[in-house]
Amino acid sequence: MKIAIDGPVGAGKSTIADAVANALNILHLDTGAMYRAVGLSCLKAGIDYEDEAAVTALCEKLEMDVRHEADGQHTLVNGEDLTGGLRTEAVSAAASRVATYAGVRRAMVAAQQALAAKTDMLLDGRDIGTRVLPDADVKIYLTAAAGERARRRWLEYQKKGQDVPFEEVLRDLEARDRQDMNREVDPLRQAEDAVVVDTTELDFDGSVAAVLAVIREATGRG
Ligand code: C5P
Repeated sequence: MKIAIDGPVGAGKSTIADAVANALNILHLDTGAMYRAVGLSCLKAGIDYEDEAAVTALCEKLEMDVRHEADGQHTLVNGEDLTGGLRTEAVSAAASRVATYAGVRRAMVAAQQALAAKTDMLLDGRDIGTRVLPDADVKIYLTAAAGERARRRWLEYQKKGQDVPFEEVLRDLEARDRQDMNREVDPLRQAEDAVVVDTTELDFDGSVAAVLAVIREATGRG
């Protein structure tokens, strides 16, 4: 079984996908973590992530490894576990930029397809239904109104004690959406055969239940 979940920034894809994969007892591959790992590798190596040629050369050399352990996905680059450093604003900005480069996408898509070929898997990202798994058993486009996505992200920052103005969170989120939707290679878009799940009015449990209902309808599982 292959499940594709795509959608814009902050729709809750990673956490919802995790809960759904757990309920189905299959692995979840967070593909965003792989682009984040490329972004972080640039920052660590002192490479300007606006420099496509340099980033592509780095990406061709690095060996990425994804492991699924009891506490979730671990993303390793050249043997070093980068998982703990992937979810910062600096890495988000770098990831979103390096994900526009054709050479980076080619390498990541090939790695994701190889991982998914081994076993039943749920993948979440931006281009899973359109590029990585065009023949997925179920495709879901998970979205929510931009204001609501920004509100959730802003609350996360508040909880971590980071006092970022709401307007700034909304502006950054919309900028990343624009970058993802307007890039030339594999932009974010809803696959023709994807089912839309809009979580604007749903809480976390409601969102998980809505996704599981779509999967059950399509596959009889869940
Ligand atoms: O999902 P997440 O926010 O962790 O992804 C980080 C960045 O990686 C996104 O902003 C997006 O630009 C990129 N991405 C992508 N294709 C995917 C997954 C993520 O371009 N399949």
